[in-house]
Amino acid sequence: MAVQSVGIVGAGQMGNGIAHVFALAGFDVLMTDISAEALDKAVALIDRNLDRQVSRGKVAAADKDAAMARIRTTQTLTDLGACDLVIEAATERETVKQQIFDTLLPHLTPDTILTSNTSSISITRLASRTDRPHKFMGFHFMNPVPVMQLVELIRGIATDDATYRTLHEVVEKIGKTAASAEDFPAFIVNRILMPMINEAVYTLYEGVGNVRSIDESMKLGANHPMGPLELADFIGLDTCLAIMNVLHEGLADTKYRPCPLLTKYVEAGWLGRKTGRGFYDYSGDTPVPTR
Ligand code: NAD
Repeated sequence: MAVQSVGIVGAGQMGNGIAHVFALAGFDVLMTDISAEALDKAVALIDRNLDRQVSRGKVAAADKDAAMARIRTTQTLTDLGACDLVIEAATERETVKQQIFDTLLPHLTPDTILTSNTSSISITRLASRTDRPHKFMGFHFMNPVPVMQLVELIRGIATDDATYRTLHEVVEKIGKTAASAEDFPAFIVNRILMPMINEAVYTLYEGVGNVRSIDESMKLGANHPMGPLELADFIGLDTCLAIMNVLHEGLADTKYRPCPLLTKYVEAGWLGRKTGRGFYDYSGDTPVPTR
């Protein structure tokens, strides 16, 4: 099946990046969010990010204009019904995603492929509650989407081969590389990455190191481009906690228990860069460690 129109649910960090790469690759994009402010911010951010790519010579100015012209927004979720492909990239809470699918399903064309960018929730379970488990897949982009090369493709137990092949072709069209992951909690990248971030928070919690020494250690000692706490702030501490909870519950192993300090930060609303404070304070010109 040829995909031309793409509906994106959620205009947050991931939704705007997904809209950016699809519009640049020539797809028609319709993005929705419950928040009008989030939609406005997303379009402004895509514009700025494309400008940066133009100034670096990575994108032609005419291609940027064409990409921006392909992005439309709506606050009415059901407007996405006619899209060939829907990518759900809303908040990482199963009840939120469930409600979105329940509202959208009666309005979808029979051929629409439905996907979720969830970092950790069972694709098979999300799919089983829709009218099209064979046309449902996990479509997991990495943050920041315009920069990161990988897309994880996660088949639910009922996903058919045609749906998988179509999404594989879509990944090639947007110039990225697909990796297939089985539908187990947190798939591949986050199954490995999140316990490392959680362990970094335990290292902080137990006073083994402070924010700066932990991040410096992993950058200079393990050659990671970002420290784990800096990366956690970048991903969003609520998202990190949600993924640890899914690993903990889904695999029933205490080695995945979320660090109480991570929970505390999320309770405080210190979610990282997106709220201006997490393990670093982002209110000034340069991030300042909070511990
Ligand atoms: P975010 O908090 O930046 O954005 C979520 C957006 O969803 C918000 O704008 C919110 O208003 C919107 N939303 C909430 N309920 C909605 C509804 N009912 N209808 C429409 N919009 C709704 O979150 P994010 O970091 O962009 O994460 C989105 C998804 O992508 C999550 O499933 C997350 O696990 C996944 N993901 C995140 C990352 C990451 O690094 N942040 C990486 C890969 C995948």
